[in-house]
Amino acid sequence: MQTNSPRYVGRFAPSPSGPLHLGSMLTAVASYLEAKSNRGLWHLRIDDLDPPRIVTGSCQQILNTLEKFHLAWDGDVVYQSQRNSGYQDYLQHCIDQNLTYPCNCPRHKIMAAGGIYPGTCLTHSPSQNAPPCAIRIKSPDNAIKFEDECQGMIEQHIPTEVGDFIIKRKDGLFAYHLACVVDDHLQGITHIVRGRDLLDSTPRQIYLQQILNFSTPSYCHLPIVVNQEGFKLSKQAQATNIDLLPTNETLSFILSALGLAPPPSIQDSVPLMLQWGIDHWSSHELTDKLTITESSLQHYV
Ligand SMILES: [Zn+2]
Repeated sequence: MQTNSPRYVGRFAPSPSGPLHLGSMLTAVASYLEAKSNRGLWHLRIDDLDPPRIVTGSCQQILNTLEKFHLAWDGDVVYQSQRNSGYQDYLQHCIDQNLTYPCNCPRHKIMAAGGIYPGTCLTHSPSQNAPPCAIRIKSPDNAIKFEDECQGMIEQHIPTEVGDFIIKRKDGLFAYHLACVVDDHLQGITHIVRGRDLLDSTPRQIYLQQILNFSTPSYCHLPIVVNQEGFKLSKQAQATNIDLLPTNETLSFILSALGLAPPPSIQDSVPLMLQWGIDHWSSHELTDKLTITESSLQHYV
């Protein structure tokens, strides 16, 4: 895909909850190729907002893996755990616009009611003596629509499909959506390439961008990689640590899964394959590649 914009700024934002697996590596490679084929920047941001989910050492492991694949990021690595004061400023902006309210409803109650928050605390405010509350944002009346580069037109009516959502958690941590949107804005991200598992989050993020007067980047949600049973790969689900596989064969597999088939003569060289990938990249070819199984990688290498 060629963008008319003179400037393309992309990013990869893994969470350090374990080593990169095939699914996250596919996202890293695709977002890198997309950025570099548009002569853009590719930033690396570590989503380490949630301390209990961080696995010691995995952050450095992710950086090492990206280096091994010659995926060189532009500028310094950004760590979300170090950016709380920025998030607080934008949270305050939402509060000042009277778009937020405190909520102390237990999660299990919301889940039991179908998982869509019914706005209980908007009408029945928690008492002043209540223990620390989460902060929710009032959802918009209108549906949020956007055209995804890979998934087509997406529309979500937040009040009925999600409900008013949390932007600061009861435990004091900033919620993913707020942090993500603030960082994308502050880093000047113009294009987001990420897994389809985040597609459902995007309308909430676009809504926050509208509230905060940020521009909305272009989105491309990639097909997700599934395991043999058809479930999404995740670090928790014992997905294969790709550090244990030969780098060139893994990259060759990922390029094939993305619709690119590097010639055999360069398949021993990671840098040559990457450059070849940049030269032949087109995100529009991705739409049909909906299922990529991890077992096909194991078969391949
Ligand atoms: Zn509530």
